[in-house]
Amino acid sequence: MSTVFNWQLGRDMEFPYDAAYPDWQFAFVFNINRCIGCQSCTMACKSTWTFSRGQENMWWNNVETKPYGGYPHHWDVKTLDLLEKANPGAQSWTGTPQDPKAPYGEFKGKTVFEAAKAHISDEGANRVLGYLPTDEEWSAPNRFEDNPVGNEKGAKGQLAFKGGELLPQHKTWFFYLARMCNHCTYPACLAACPRNAIYKRPEDGIVLVDQERCRGYRKCMEACPYKKTLYRGTTRTSEKCIACFPRVEGRDPQHGGLPMQTRCMAACVGHIRLQGLVQINKDGTWKENRFNPLYYLIHVAKVALPLYPQFGTEPNGYYIPPRWVPRPYLKQMFGPGVDAAIERYTVPDRELLAVLQLFGKDARICFRYEIKEGPKIFETTVRGKKFEMFDDTIIGYAKDGTKIVETKVEEPFHVRDAKHANSI
Ligand code: SF4
Ligand code: SF4
Repeated sequence: MSTVFNWQLGRDMEFPYDAAYPDWQFAFVFNINRCIGCQSCTMACKSTWTFSRGQENMWWNNVETKPYGGYPHHWDVKTLDLLEKANPGAQSWTGTPQDPKAPYGEFKGKTVFEAAKAHISDEGANRVLGYLPTDEEWSAPNRFEDNPVGNEKGAKGQLAFKGGELLPQHKTWFFYLARMCNHCTYPACLAACPRNAIYKRPEDGIVLVDQERCRGYRKCMEACPYKKTLYRGTTRTSEKCIACFPRVEGRDPQHGGLPMQTRCMAACVGHIRLQGLVQINKDGTWKENRFNPLYYLIHVAKVALPLYPQFGTEPNGYYIPPRWVPRPYLKQMFGPGVDAAIERYTVPDRELLAVLQLFGKDARICFRYEIKEGPKIFETTVRGKKFEMFDDTIIGYAKDGTKIVETKVEEPFHVRDAKHANSI
């Protein structure tokens, strides 16, 4: 085992290989508050990459209804349970969340790499603590869709649970968790592969399975705590999300060589997704880039948080937590940054409100934004805090400086011409 620094945990951790970081890292932010569970992302991915024989039950992108849903079933609860058994009562966080090298404090528990040493299976010691889901667990990706949890019972003739929907936290709740491979900084799939068939690209940090080397041992499936490698029976190999790398490389002829967001990002109806590339320092931390939208959302505004950072893979997928969900559930899922993130998102400042407008506006990757200030158009109080809205304009630029987005905080109001009145 080597020692590597995991900034999401605020500490060094054990990993089977020496640290090696890409120049750029593929990363994304999902705003769960806006996901409508339409599965357009899921189908965009399926119709592009997993429509062939042997891939029938394979969903590289999926959207599950939390808390009950999961693909495979109960993937997160099962891994959390394994970690708890390996380190009873000690999977906790401490520290000062303000420290830039430990923005969420310090994780005192054990990661899937550290806990593996204490967990000897029938086959001996593993490099990563995990489990292999059964075929049945992969078979119904949208089980428990729209099933809420809550202690309020509905009454006959009553449409909603009484009082169940009142903010700040609903008593009756569910939310949609959109998921894909996190192209982790310390990929558990890569760490566990006995064939060295999984690699992380130095140019963009995308994690790929070499189909020539893979022999289908499924150690990656067992190890990935997010369960995002999948087995294909017809080729007897494992496959996973490839982050639409031809698009990210700018090889799509439609967009003149500019890097583009993946299919699932571009197809998102709810405009919840923003994907990009961020520069990485030699020590694995993010290079300061104040006006890169992902850097801003994750490291400056801190409204977007990693999914289950305690697993230890340093996932590069970040989520703006749903503000109506009970906090203990969210803190288990996104770590100690939840309260501050929701506070910031609920009463956004001028810059955050402008940056949120970039989501879903253009398929090309935005590398930099700038804001032109406009007049104040609205003022109110949200739970005791003053909220002001300005009609600022945000402009986004591609890697080569091409302007790709220009949009205002206040959406323009279009009046349909009378000649189109019956055109639907
Ligand atoms: S999410 Fe899983 S499959 Fe994707 S890089 Fe991380 S460990 Fe590997
Ligand atoms: S397309 Fe967007 S809104 Fe629809 S399910 Fe996917 S992430 Fe959610």
